[in-house]
Amino acid sequence: MPPPYTGGCQCGAIRYEFSCEPLTVYTCHCTDCQKTAASAFGMSVRVKAENFTLTKGEPNSIDIVADSGRTKTGLFCGDCGTRVCNKPGANGPQVVVKAGTLDDPNWFRPIAHIWTRSAQGWFPFADGLPKFETAPEDPAALNELWDAHVAGG
Ligand SMILES: [Zn+2]
Ligand SMILES: [Zn+2]
Repeated sequence: MPPPYTGGCQCGAIRYEFSCEPLTVYTCHCTDCQKTAASAFGMSVRVKAENFTLTKGEPNSIDIVADSGRTKTGLFCGDCGTRVCNKPGANGPQVVVKAGTLDDPNWFRPIAHIWTRSAQGWFPFADGLPKFETAPEDPAALNELWDAHVAGG
């Protein structure tokens, strides 16, 4: 499926699209993602901020201190509460889209698990993907794993 990729919140008040292939896709088992996903882990689709557009609605925002100690801004629907994305403070002009809000969340597959230190105990990690106890020291590491995945089909 070619870009643009579209998505939005549960009630439809907030809609977005991004016009490029993602920089990387991974699952995050940090406690913050567990809260915002209201589930066992979050799935993150990292895109360049310049390629991300809010096409409908005005999301609310919340600044949070992540498990990494860095501050990030979360954007969520004020009506239904769905978190649609985070804007990390330290990683430059990027947007981390919450994969479950995509219209077709089946399209992207994660290439790694991060923050496995706080993963829920039952999670099987049976897919053989690289695991990071926290976040990789070099943020580009996840992009490189994605590039290798795309190159390998
Ligand atoms: Zn909504
Ligand atoms: Zn996380």
